[in-house]
Amino acid sequence: MSAKSLDQHFELLHLSGLDEIFLDAESEFDPVPDLEKVKLKYANCRKCSLAENRIKFVYGEGSQSAKLMLIGEAPGAEENISGKPFVGKAGQLLTKMLKAINIERDEVYITNVVKCRPPNNRNPLPAEIDACSEYLDEQLAVIQPELILLLGRVASEALLKQNKTLAEYRKQTHIFKSVKTYVTYHPSALLRNPGWKKFAWIDLQKLRDDFNQL
Ligand code: SF4
Repeated sequence: MSAKSLDQHFELLHLSGLDEIFLDAESEFDPVPDLEKVKLKYANCRKCSLAENRIKFVYGEGSQSAKLMLIGEAPGAEENISGKPFVGKAGQLLTKMLKAINIERDEVYITNVVKCRPPNNRNPLPAEIDACSEYLDEQLAVIQPELILLLGRVASEALLKQNKTLAEYRKQTHIFKSVKTYVTYHPSALLRNPGWKKFAWIDLQKLRDDFNQL
Protein backbone atom coordinates (compact mmCIF):
# COMPACT_ATOMS: atom_id res chain seq x y z
CA MET A 1 0.00 0.00 0.00
CA SER A 2 1.45 3.44 -0.94
CA ALA A 3 2.03 6.07 1.75
CA LYS A 4 -0.86 8.11 0.38
CA SER A 5 -3.33 5.23 0.34
CA LEU A 6 -2.12 4.26 3.84
CA ASP A 7 -2.96 7.79 5.05
CA GLN A 8 -6.38 7.53 3.40
CA HIS A 9 -6.90 4.13 5.01
CA PHE A 10 -6.24 5.54 8.54
CA GLU A 11 -8.35 8.62 7.82
CA LEU A 12 -11.22 6.32 6.93
CA LEU A 13 -10.68 4.33 10.15
CA HIS A 14 -10.68 7.54 12.15
CA LEU A 15 -13.88 8.84 10.54
CA SER A 16 -15.61 5.54 11.21
CA GLY A 17 -14.39 5.38 14.85
CA LEU A 18 -12.63 2.11 14.10
CA ASP A 19 -9.21 3.50 15.06
CA GLU A 20 -10.13 3.27 18.76
CA ILE A 21 -11.20 -0.33 18.34
CA PHE A 22 -7.89 -1.13 16.67
CA LEU A 23 -5.93 0.67 19.42
CA ASP A 24 -7.81 -1.29 22.12
CA ALA A 25 -7.11 -4.52 20.30
CA GLU A 26 -3.45 -3.58 19.97
CA SER A 27 -3.04 -3.01 23.70
CA GLU A 28 -4.91 -6.22 24.51
CA PHE A 29 -2.56 -8.28 22.34
CA ASP A 30 0.61 -6.31 23.05
CA PRO A 31 3.37 -8.94 22.85
CA VAL A 32 5.41 -7.04 25.46
CA PRO A 33 2.95 -6.01 28.19
CA ASP A 34 3.75 -3.07 30.45
CA LEU A 35 4.45 -4.66 33.84
CA GLU A 36 3.14 -1.56 35.63
CA LYS A 37 -0.25 -2.22 34.02
CA VAL A 38 0.01 -5.98 34.53
CA LYS A 39 0.61 -5.34 38.24
CA LEU A 40 -2.77 -3.65 38.60
CA LYS A 41 -4.54 -6.78 37.33
CA TYR A 42 -3.15 -8.85 40.21
CA ALA A 43 -3.19 -6.33 43.06
CA ASN A 44 -6.24 -7.95 44.69
CA CYS A 45 -5.01 -11.53 44.29
CA ARG A 46 -6.37 -13.93 46.92
CA LYS A 47 -4.82 -17.15 45.68
CA CYS A 48 -3.13 -17.86 49.00
CA SER A 49 -3.50 -17.02 52.68
CA LEU A 50 -0.88 -14.25 52.51
CA ALA A 51 -3.63 -12.03 51.12
CA GLU A 52 -5.26 -11.97 54.58
CA ASN A 53 -2.73 -9.66 56.23
CA ARG A 54 -1.74 -7.76 53.12
CA ILE A 55 -1.70 -3.98 53.18
CA LYS A 56 -0.11 -3.64 49.76
CA PHE A 57 0.73 -6.13 47.05
CA VAL A 58 4.45 -5.82 46.26
CA TYR A 59 4.81 -6.87 42.66
CA GLY A 60 8.26 -5.60 41.69
CA GLU A 61 10.05 -2.52 40.49
CA GLY A 62 12.67 -1.49 38.00
CA SER A 63 13.54 -1.49 34.36
CA GLN A 64 11.44 -3.68 32.13
CA SER A 65 14.47 -4.05 29.84
CA ALA A 66 16.80 -4.95 32.71
CA LYS A 67 19.60 -7.38 31.94
CA LEU A 68 19.82 -8.27 35.62
CA MET A 69 16.89 -9.36 37.79
CA LEU A 70 17.15 -9.60 41.58
CA ILE A 71 14.82 -11.94 43.44
CA GLY A 72 14.38 -11.98 47.20
CA GLU A 73 12.01 -14.06 49.30
CA ALA A 74 9.09 -11.85 50.36
CA PRO A 75 8.10 -8.29 51.24
CA GLY A 76 8.75 -7.12 54.80
CA ALA A 77 6.86 -4.65 56.99
CA GLU A 78 7.96 -1.49 55.17
CA GLU A 79 7.41 -3.02 51.75
CA ASN A 80 3.90 -4.07 52.85
CA ILE A 81 3.16 -0.41 53.58
CA SER A 82 4.86 1.15 50.55
CA GLY A 83 4.01 -1.50 47.94
CA LYS A 84 7.63 -1.39 46.74
CA PRO A 85 10.27 -4.09 47.12
CA PHE A 86 13.41 -3.58 49.24
CA VAL A 87 12.69 -0.12 50.62
CA GLY A 88 13.70 -0.54 54.28
CA LYS A 89 17.21 -0.75 55.72
CA ALA A 90 17.83 -3.95 53.80
CA GLY A 91 16.71 -2.19 50.63
CA GLN A 92 19.08 0.70 51.28
CA LEU A 93 21.91 -1.77 51.74
CA LEU A 94 20.91 -3.51 48.51
CA THR A 95 21.10 -0.19 46.65
CA LYS A 96 24.60 0.36 48.08
CA MET A 97 25.66 -3.17 47.12
CA LEU A 98 24.58 -2.48 43.53
CA LYS A 99 26.34 0.88 43.50
CA ALA A 100 29.53 -0.81 44.73
CA ILE A 101 29.57 -2.75 41.45
CA ASN A 102 28.61 0.31 39.39
CA ILE A 103 25.02 -0.73 38.82
CA GLU A 104 22.21 1.76 39.49
CA ARG A 105 19.08 0.40 41.08
CA ASP A 106 16.90 1.63 38.23
CA GLU A 107 18.94 -0.42 35.73
CA VAL A 108 17.77 -3.70 37.26
CA TYR A 109 14.41 -5.27 38.10
CA ILE A 110 13.79 -6.23 41.73
CA THR A 111 11.10 -8.55 42.99
CA ASN A 112 10.40 -11.37 45.44
CA VAL A 113 9.30 -14.98 45.18
CA VAL A 114 6.00 -14.08 46.88
CA LYS A 115 4.32 -10.73 46.48
CA CYS A 116 2.59 -10.38 49.86
CA ARG A 117 4.15 -10.19 53.32
CA PRO A 118 4.14 -13.39 55.39
CA PRO A 119 2.97 -12.78 58.99
CA ASN A 120 5.84 -11.90 61.36
CA ASN A 121 8.24 -12.20 58.45
CA ARG A 122 8.10 -16.00 58.54
CA ASN A 123 9.39 -17.85 55.49
CA PRO A 124 6.79 -18.29 52.75
CA LEU A 125 5.30 -21.78 52.69
CA PRO A 126 5.65 -24.08 49.66
CA ALA A 127 1.94 -23.68 48.83
CA GLU A 128 2.29 -19.87 48.90
CA ILE A 129 5.39 -20.01 46.68
CA ASP A 130 3.52 -22.27 44.25
CA ALA A 131 0.46 -20.04 44.22
CA CYS A 132 2.57 -16.96 43.46
CA SER A 133 4.92 -18.55 40.95
CA GLU A 134 2.91 -17.59 37.88
CA TYR A 135 3.55 -13.90 38.60
CA LEU A 136 7.30 -14.42 38.80
CA ASP A 137 7.20 -16.57 35.66
CA GLU A 138 5.41 -13.79 33.82
CA GLN A 139 7.90 -11.17 35.02
CA LEU A 140 10.76 -13.35 33.79
CA ALA A 141 9.05 -13.91 30.46
CA VAL A 142 8.51 -10.18 29.91
CA ILE A 143 11.88 -8.93 31.16
CA GLN A 144 13.97 -11.80 29.78
CA PRO A 145 16.96 -11.01 31.99
CA GLU A 146 20.39 -12.26 31.02
CA LEU A 147 21.47 -12.67 34.64
CA ILE A 148 19.60 -13.36 37.86
CA LEU A 149 20.79 -12.74 41.41
CA LEU A 150 18.95 -14.67 44.12
CA LEU A 151 19.05 -13.02 47.53
CA GLY A 152 19.18 -15.47 50.42
CA ARG A 153 18.59 -19.15 50.99
CA VAL A 154 14.79 -18.99 51.01
CA ALA A 155 14.62 -17.55 47.48
CA SER A 156 17.36 -19.92 46.32
CA GLU A 157 15.64 -22.98 47.73
CA ALA A 158 12.24 -21.87 46.42
CA LEU A 159 13.53 -21.55 42.87
CA LEU A 160 16.51 -23.91 42.58
CA LYS A 161 15.07 -26.65 44.86
CA GLN A 162 18.40 -28.31 45.66
CA ASN A 163 18.12 -28.54 49.46
CA LYS A 164 21.49 -26.85 50.04
CA THR A 165 22.82 -24.34 52.52
CA LEU A 166 23.41 -20.82 51.29
CA ALA A 167 27.17 -21.44 51.39
CA GLU A 168 26.66 -24.41 49.08
CA TYR A 169 24.38 -22.47 46.73
CA ARG A 170 26.96 -19.67 46.51
CA LYS A 171 29.77 -22.02 45.44
CA GLN A 172 28.64 -22.07 41.84
CA THR A 173 26.38 -20.35 39.36
CA HIS A 174 23.11 -22.03 38.44
CA ILE A 175 20.72 -22.07 35.52
CA PHE A 176 17.18 -21.01 36.40
CA LYS A 177 14.66 -20.82 33.53
CA SER A 178 17.63 -20.91 31.14
CA VAL A 179 19.22 -17.85 32.76
CA LYS A 180 22.64 -17.80 34.46
CA THR A 181 21.90 -17.32 38.14
CA TYR A 182 24.05 -16.18 41.05
CA VAL A 183 23.25 -16.60 44.73
CA THR A 184 24.31 -14.31 47.54
CA TYR A 185 23.23 -13.26 51.02
CA HIS A 186 19.96 -11.47 51.58
CA PRO A 187 20.80 -7.90 52.68
CA SER A 188 18.77 -8.44 55.90
CA ALA A 189 21.16 -11.27 56.78
CA LEU A 190 24.10 -8.95 56.08
CA LEU A 191 22.63 -6.35 58.44
CA ARG A 192 22.41 -9.00 61.17
CA ASN A 193 25.84 -10.46 60.36
CA PRO A 194 28.11 -7.71 58.98
CA GLY A 195 31.02 -10.17 58.91
CA TRP A 196 29.34 -11.88 55.93
CA LYS A 197 29.65 -8.76 53.77
CA LYS A 198 33.10 -9.86 52.61
CA PHE A 199 31.55 -13.02 51.16
CA ALA A 200 28.78 -11.07 49.48
CA TRP A 201 31.43 -8.79 47.98
CA ILE A 202 33.10 -11.83 46.38
CA ASP A 203 29.74 -12.86 44.85
CA LEU A 204 29.03 -9.35 43.61
CA GLN A 205 32.41 -8.99 41.93
CA LYS A 206 31.81 -12.20 39.97
CA LEU A 207 28.36 -10.97 39.00
CA ARG A 208 29.79 -7.60 37.96
CA ASP A 209 32.35 -9.26 35.67
CA ASP A 210 29.55 -11.11 33.89
CA PHE A 211 27.28 -8.07 33.82
CA ASN A 212 30.02 -5.93 32.25
CA GLN A 213 30.30 -8.37 29.39
CA LEU A 214 26.62 -8.18 28.43
S1 SF4 B 1 1.42 -14.07 47.85
FE1 SF4 B 1 1.05 -14.17 45.65
S2 SF4 B 1 -0.47 -15.79 45.38
FE2 SF4 B 1 -0.49 -15.22 47.55
S3 SF4 B 1 -2.14 -13.68 47.68
FE3 SF4 B 1 -0.19 -12.58 47.38
S4 SF4 B 1 -0.04 -12.26 45.19
FE4 SF4 B 1 -1.59 -13.86 45.51
